[in-house]
Amino acid sequence: MKTHVKALVVGGGAVGTSIAYHLARHGWDEVMLLERDELTSGSTWHAAGLLPYFNMSYATTHIHDYSIRFYKTLEAETGLNAGFSVVGNLRMAQSKARMDEYLLYATTAETCDVPFEWLTPSEIKARWPLLRTEDLEGAIYHPTDGYINPADVTMAMAKGARQRGVTIERKWQVDGYEWTGAEWRVSVSKMVEKGGNLVPSEETAVITAEHVVTATGNHAQRTARMLGIKIPAIPVEHQYIVTEPDPALVAYRREGGGEHPVLRDADAKWYVREERGGWILGPYERNAPARFEYGVPDSFRADLFPLDLERIEEEYMSMIHRIPSSEEVGLKDDYNGPICYTPDGNPLIGPAPGLRNMWLAEGFSFGITAAGGAGEYLAQMMVAGEAEIDMASLDPKRYGDWMTTDYAARKNEEAYEHVYILHHPDEERPACRPLRTAPVYDRQKARGAQFGQVNGWERPNYYGSAEAEEDFDHAARSFRRGGWWDYARTEAEAIRNGVGLIDATAFTKHLVKGPGAAAFMDWFTCNRLPKTGRINLTYALTGAGTTRTEYTVVRLAEDSFYLVSAGAWTGYDGDYLRKAAEDRREELGWIEVQDVTTQWGVFAVAGPKSRDLLGALVKDADPATVLSNKRFPWLSCRDIELGMVPVRAIRVAYTGELGWELHHPIEMQTHLWDRLMEAGEPLGLKLVGARAQNWLRQEKSYRAFGHELGRDATPLEADLPRFVDLSKEFHGKAEMQAKGIRSRCVTVLIDGPSDADPWGREALYLGDGTRVGRLTSGGYSVAFGKSIGMGYVRPDLAKAGQALQVRMLGQLWDAVVTEDSPYDPENARIRQDG
Ligand SMILES: Cc1cc2nc3c(=O)[nH]c(=O)nc-3n(C[C@H](O)[C@H](O)[C@H](O)COP(=O)(O)OP(=O)(O)OC[C@H]3O[C@@H](n4cnc5c(N)ncnc54)[C@H](O)[C@@H]3O)c2cc1C
Repeated sequence: MKTHVKALVVGGGAVGTSIAYHLARHGWDEVMLLERDELTSGSTWHAAGLLPYFNMSYATTHIHDYSIRFYKTLEAETGLNAGFSVVGNLRMAQSKARMDEYLLYATTAETCDVPFEWLTPSEIKARWPLLRTEDLEGAIYHPTDGYINPADVTMAMAKGARQRGVTIERKWQVDGYEWTGAEWRVSVSKMVEKGGNLVPSEETAVITAEHVVTATGNHAQRTARMLGIKIPAIPVEHQYIVTEPDPALVAYRREGGGEHPVLRDADAKWYVREERGGWILGPYERNAPARFEYGVPDSFRADLFPLDLERIEEEYMSMIHRIPSSEEVGLKDDYNGPICYTPDGNPLIGPAPGLRNMWLAEGFSFGITAAGGAGEYLAQMMVAGEAEIDMASLDPKRYGDWMTTDYAARKNEEAYEHVYILHHPDEERPACRPLRTAPVYDRQKARGAQFGQVNGWERPNYYGSAEAEEDFDHAARSFRRGGWWDYARTEAEAIRNGVGLIDATAFTKHLVKGPGAAAFMDWFTCNRLPKTGRINLTYALTGAGTTRTEYTVVRLAEDSFYLVSAGAWTGYDGDYLRKAAEDRREELGWIEVQDVTTQWGVFAVAGPKSRDLLGALVKDADPATVLSNKRFPWLSCRDIELGMVPVRAIRVAYTGELGWELHHPIEMQTHLWDRLMEAGEPLGLKLVGARAQNWLRQEKSYRAFGHELGRDATPLEADLPRFVDLSKEFHGKAEMQAKGIRSRCVTVLIDGPSDADPWGREALYLGDGTRVGRLTSGGYSVAFGKSIGMGYVRPDLAKAGQALQVRMLGQLWDAVVTEDSPYDPENARIRQDG
């Protein structure tokens, strides 16, 4: 066995095999894959092999699309037939809401070039007469996907990998990792059979590797322990059953009927496909338990759990309803295996938190579908530094250190159960909540706050009525304007006309200080550094010149910086920042990086009356001028006292009105809140949630991370040249410039339907039907009284007045590109003196 390689891939399931293949295909030699048992002996062997396109995430849709296209090429390359049956995929809808879900999904599919068709119930019946269709609303049909043999496709990728020089070693288990500072020393043991179990023998070795990728499936918890990190990938039981041949199906096929597409009755929570004249039924039932929370026992190899028929009775009965002929057929086989999940159902692909050259590819629940694309995009990241699509939504660091085993297990059970729920874009899932709460949580709740969860934090989305029923928010969800919409509109108007308070405690906050801090920050971010007491909006770039993080930087002192970034991304931002500081310390001088997120609460007060609100509380020798433009100009930071609370006040407002962010010691939060409520009463202070804020920031064309800002676009493509100082050198500058402008960020106002706004994933067209871009944000503008959105278009179309069309709910609606910041473009309201 080789003892030194460039890349060691651990795990010989579909995912690990694809990664090894793609690393070789991207030109890396010396790639080795280790598998503790046989290839495919993990979850891969018992997968049903379905390759569904349908996915609400942009990145995952690209990944699935890559796989489906790639698997079709494998036979020509390797001579092995991967058993891909391109039978298509029919996703049925029993309700109008479900059709709305498909219409929303279709927007993502459209922007990723995924083919689909719409079918009416009678069209379904005409093509597949065995199906009962009278209670259906319709269906979306993907003609180009289907199902594959999971073992065969893995073997074909393994052959392709070997042909490209990859070494594959079976029956070797990784038992430990040690980073030497330059490479990984990986301890491995030869595995042997003992009493039916697979156990390590005394034959051991050490392999050194420049890079390691873990793709260990159900063994992710053991991998996490070995690496000393947290990986929220824990399997859940998933079963499917195979029936005896169905005489009606056999006759239908004998008479020339084509194979049924993979059938999905999402409302009934199952998939069904043909299998040798019978049916495979795969339910996503309630109460499927998490397994192996602390690791897979040695005794569990390519094993299965016992079938739990009672748990899937409801789904079984509904299959009989949909395919009446299946009532008479008996069961032939059953599978109940571990299927890995993560709290949001998406895999963890990318650099491991805190570690160098360690890459994770864990937590795949649709791993056969995702393997091809995961291999390709991870290989792009490892070989070229970045993938062509933004992989942030799949990054392993999206879960912070606050995450525990119990959280992961319970959330993963929920993610499993939610596979077929209506994927409302305004959905908030209930498990493991509340968990991370600001001290004012109960006060907010008493005032009707309806919370969303961001990075584990409870954050008000909007304030409904204080008397609202417990499940008010659930009923308020919609693919159109939900029951919350009027609340958000009133909140947005309050900020435009009066004063509102937004709880932004979940913001990520880092302190960067020390002798090397200024030189480091100058190199790490692309805007010129602010002077002491001032603030700047700036970006840290990737090595490929795209946007890695957006920061509001406050310069507290010559060598001390307070960095504020999006609340959802604390682990993701912190990891990049810390690693970059470590890299430059020796050269630039000591740089200390502290995550102070949980030490500081943040209230944002905004609106024309916000100065009056703070003026009522501020303590100062000259309270009349302390908040004036002269003493406290826009884009500056001051330590002020509000009542008895020392506040780091920052004069910015993400809503585009006069406003301040009040960063305060978290332990004084309730006191500050109570004082603000008292002082706000006579001013009509309104509590405002994240949804209204999201609308308001679009009226100002403020880009949001994870939407307009991400690793697939540079700050120049985001059309933010005013925040890029080209006169200095900074990380990613040359790469950013080399990228040019492939597409450009714009804001659009839309004459849309009266009952819906865009969600930020819709395709943009020219009047002649040419697709020219996509939205990345959407909402409603109270200032303009119509729908608003932000997104990317062909650079030549990024000019104010350009007419476009937006596809929403299946129809095209007129839109027009606005000037940047259509609301108050001169910033006169933000600068308002007093
Ligand atoms: C009943 C069922 C049906 C499913 N149906 C579908 C479907 O239709 N479509 C779909 O896309 N997905 C399906 N899945 C999910 C799919 O099986 C998984 O997502 C996929 O197999 C994951 O592949 P993987 O390579 O990540 O993990 P695995 O296949 O589990 O591979 C991980 C490998 O890593 C090895 N390993 C672990 N630790 C070590 C170590 N320390 N050293 C060396 N080797 C190690 C293991 O032995 C294992 O072979 C289904 C799952 C189940 C349970």
